[in-house]
Amino acid sequence: MIVRLAKHSGFCFGVRRAIQLAIEAADQGTPVFSLGELIHNPQYVLELQEKGIKVANSAAELHNSMVIVRSHGITKQEYMMLEEQGNTIVDATCPYVTKTHNLIRQANADGYPVVILGDALHPEVVGMRSFGNPDTIVVGPEETPPAQNAKRLCVISQTTQKLEHLNNLIRMLLPNVLELKVYNSICIATSLRQSSSACLAQDSDLMIVIGGRQSSNTKMLTKVCAQYCPTIQIETEEELQQLLPQGIERIGLAAGASTPETRILEVYNKILKINGEEDLATSIQNIPLFKEESC
Ligand code: SF4
Repeated sequence: MIVRLAKHSGFCFGVRRAIQLAIEAADQGTPVFSLGELIHNPQYVLELQEKGIKVANSAAELHNSMVIVRSHGITKQEYMMLEEQGNTIVDATCPYVTKTHNLIRQANADGYPVVILGDALHPEVVGMRSFGNPDTIVVGPEETPPAQNAKRLCVISQTTQKLEHLNNLIRMLLPNVLELKVYNSICIATSLRQSSSACLAQDSDLMIVIGGRQSSNTKMLTKVCAQYCPTIQIETEEELQQLLPQGIERIGLAAGASTPETRILEVYNKILKINGEEDLATSIQNIPLFKEESC
């Protein structure tokens, strides 16, 4: 049996940065709150709690505290409320997400109504929309945009969307407007995770995608891999015993941008143990990476 890890797996730059900023803040000894879970990974959220980083569910409950803004960002109204209530804000919004806020503001200032491609309920998109004006709309990846009266429009994407969906939206909007300004704000970290996982899935008998069930980028990876081979999604190695079919020769591992290295390592070692192997990996660097050139 061979087990290989997709070349681009686990924490992205924005998540790694947010966690580092949160841990540095907690190390100062004062209680620290993240507004919403810092990452979509329940086991890691518990580990962070042990380091002194608690989760608050709304800005309204935070007064005179140290507050971490997670990589998805928050709404303009939440920033204002946190400041008015005397909180110290450690802004760990991913710089790529902050860029979308600035682009939306600028587009509105230049007179362009904004169409956001994304999941309207996702916190990143809720935050993005708050930096727009009442004309700012959100169109989901499989949706048809409403009829447009505007002569010009600006399209900006949630960072985790697929390029294919952005192209579809542009194709639908273009015939009805004179001027269409498009910012490709899709983050390369997401597309790299998807393409390297897809490559590995094409050379595997089973893909195991590791990540939180609420993590949209993990769910997307599962969907991508499932196009090529049987795929299961798990949060921890404990789920593996029941799910791992017998007789599989080539297992591929992929992990979402909010999955810590320790979880990937635990899953890898669990597969080895189920396979009766005793020589376990001590770090993620010991896990063979899939060579994408062969794909
Ligand atoms: S996926 Fe990209 S935009 Fe989102 S947090 Fe990670 S690095 Fe930032």
